[in-house]
Amino acid sequence: MTKNKRKVIYEGKAKILYQGTQPNTIIQYFKDDATAFNNKKFAIINGKGVLNNRISSFLMDKVKDIGIPTHFIKRINMREQLVHKVDIIPIEVVVRNIAAGSICKRFGLKEGESLPRPIVEYYYKSDELNDPLISEEHITAFDWANSNELEDIFNMSLRVNDFLLGIFSSISIKLVDFKLEYGRLFKDDNLEIILADELSPDNFRLWDNNTNKKLDKDRFREDLGDMKEAYQEVAKRLGILEN
Ligand code: UDP
Repeated sequence: MTKNKRKVIYEGKAKILYQGTQPNTIIQYFKDDATAFNNKKFAIINGKGVLNNRISSFLMDKVKDIGIPTHFIKRINMREQLVHKVDIIPIEVVVRNIAAGSICKRFGLKEGESLPRPIVEYYYKSDELNDPLISEEHITAFDWANSNELEDIFNMSLRVNDFLLGIFSSISIKLVDFKLEYGRLFKDDNLEIILADELSPDNFRLWDNNTNKKLDKDRFREDLGDMKEAYQEVAKRLGILEN
């Protein structure tokens, strides 16, 4: 495959980034690798990359339609998409609607409890430090983003949440929580904050409305099996995969 001839810019846990074909673009290649617990758990799930590429392309296009700027340009093939090259802000933004995962441990909440309102959290992107939870103070004091940028990030994250809640609820799926990443793009002599990375079940918690069946990466984290089938189910319900 031609992928080996191209310049690798970065290889992450679930994606490889190649230099794009046009200036200031990148090709995101979606791997089948599944990792959890900061790389302590690893498996190859055949076909996961193809599904995440499809799902993420579809959702990025939708989010773009409501006026959220994103790095996504187009899906190129089964495993690759063309995106704008951005400077990634080293923050993971988590939006939560229902208690699950780390928030349960941190505050002693029961998995599945509704939160009083959507909660936005920030984590510092650092595998070495295990992505610590941070506050706005850390972000501005350490210059990871300024307060205007942070306001954009906060507002966009809540808009994305509202929008995705609607999309998933219409296909009988609860959007429990998800993680977003943002980058900076030079546009018309200005730096613009845009949504980057991916929108896929690797970064979302998605539960079936009626049965609470997990349709996301928790199937891998919790050894529930049938991860690919769960991602396929999400894609089918979104109408982007034939039954
Ligand atoms: N998440 C992610 N990448 C991370 C950490 C979290 O995509 O490095 C997502 C995760 O899939 C979930 C949400 O962010 O949808 C909240 O995760 P949480 O803080 O509960 O951490 P976890 O329990 O996944 O370790």
